[in-house]
Amino acid sequence: MISLELIIPAALIIGGAVLLFGFRLYLVHSYQNQQVDERVDSLQYFATRLTGQLGTHDESANGIPEGTEQELELVADMYDSRILIIGPDYRIVKDTFVIDEGRYVISPEVMNAFAGTSYRRLNRDRHYLEMALPVMDTISREVTGVLFISASTMEIYKSVRELNLRVSAIVALVFLFIVLLAVLAGILIRQTFARTQQSLARIGEGSLDAPLFHSRIYEISAMTEEYEHILKRLQFQSQTREEFVSNVSHELKTPIASMKVLADSLLLQEEVPAELYRDFMTDISGELDRETQIINDLLTLSRLDHVSSDDLSLQKVDIGALIEGILKRLRPLAQQRNIELVYESMREVNAEADPIRLSLALTNLVENAIKYNHENGWVKVVCDADYRYAYIRVADSGIGIPQEALPHVFERFYRVDKARSRERGGTGLGLSIASSIVLMHGGAIRVSSTPGEGSTFTVRIPVRQM
Ligand code: ADP
Repeated sequence: MISLELIIPAALIIGGAVLLFGFRLYLVHSYQNQQVDERVDSLQYFATRLTGQLGTHDESANGIPEGTEQELELVADMYDSRILIIGPDYRIVKDTFVIDEGRYVISPEVMNAFAGTSYRRLNRDRHYLEMALPVMDTISREVTGVLFISASTMEIYKSVRELNLRVSAIVALVFLFIVLLAVLAGILIRQTFARTQQSLARIGEGSLDAPLFHSRIYEISAMTEEYEHILKRLQFQSQTREEFVSNVSHELKTPIASMKVLADSLLLQEEVPAELYRDFMTDISGELDRETQIINDLLTLSRLDHVSSDDLSLQKVDIGALIEGILKRLRPLAQQRNIELVYESMREVNAEADPIRLSLALTNLVENAIKYNHENGWVKVVCDADYRYAYIRVADSGIGIPQEALPHVFERFYRVDKARSRERGGTGLGLSIASSIVLMHGGAIRVSSTPGEGSTFTVRIPVRQM
């Protein structure tokens, strides 16, 4: 494993060092080259000028003209150099250092110059520059002599050394600053990660609502936000689970409490008439049925929770036939309160669905339409489809649902009127079971209602499952 806390500072230091020292090298070198080039150019300029002057002069007259001699001395002085003028017989006619005048020089450079080839050499190690130029007679175009210059470049090297020292000092300072920055970056990274890790560890230990540390570093902050989302979901899930468990225990306790009251009142009385026993026992049996119904519904829901849409036993279902079967089964219940059940089919509808589960969902809707209806009311089931969806509408002439309760009716154990639901044998789970099944089919369920006039539940499921 690698640690950002080390990598980032190390990259800063190494990168900084390479850049800075490279920069120093480049600066010093280019300065030195530029200085040397300039020196060579100006010497070359004077040398050409001097050979020109010497070439136009009539050699036989007498030595070197005054003006040229003065310029020679001046150039020699200015460029810290020694200038020799060599005559056609390889004899030194003029030496600005005077010492070698009258002597002969026979060197390859001088001989080449007499042959018409200029010579130039820069000795970087010993810091001097040598130049040999032929002096050509302007009229006869013959080489009449050679101008030899040897100039020291020491002074340039001194100034380069000075520049080098200064640049090195600046580079060292900047490098120090970078090291400092790198160390600071390392500390900042370590602190940020340590704090984020600590706050996550606290949550890991179980305190889900412990505050999360928010870093100013974008990537870490983005990651923390992701964790926060996960946490919120976990908190929500744990809260819903708690609520659900408390609801379940409450729902299960209610029939037991009723049975307890019934049984106790029988026990407390002496010589209870057989009639009363029968009455109470009928009530107790009713409560047991209720308890069974709640447990069955809970089991159905819990099974649905663990089933994904892949687990549906899909087949081509004739929705019309399915609805007719449901209505047939529920007709006796409707007849008890003289409620009319009507089925209306707009067209033949076939959809890919799990017939048992879809039938359970629709049964719950029609059952509710009967349960929450007035005597002599009606329930109408309409089936329609377009090329993508099948639509099943269950409308009733019942008591309706208040506007504010509409968003909650699909929640587990939610009931608008607890007493009425209980009286009609409701568990508060029917609509959540129905909506789970519809969602599993990739569909949707909607409700609209006018209190006192009736409600309409609309189920939409895709004709073909993806
Ligand atoms: P229950 O077992 O109580 O019927 P449901 O989950 O099936 O539970 O329904 C939740 C609540 O929604 C019911 O208690 C009832 O108040 C309301 N409800 C459902 N269907 C209808 C309907 N067709 N008309 C009026 N109210 C309804």
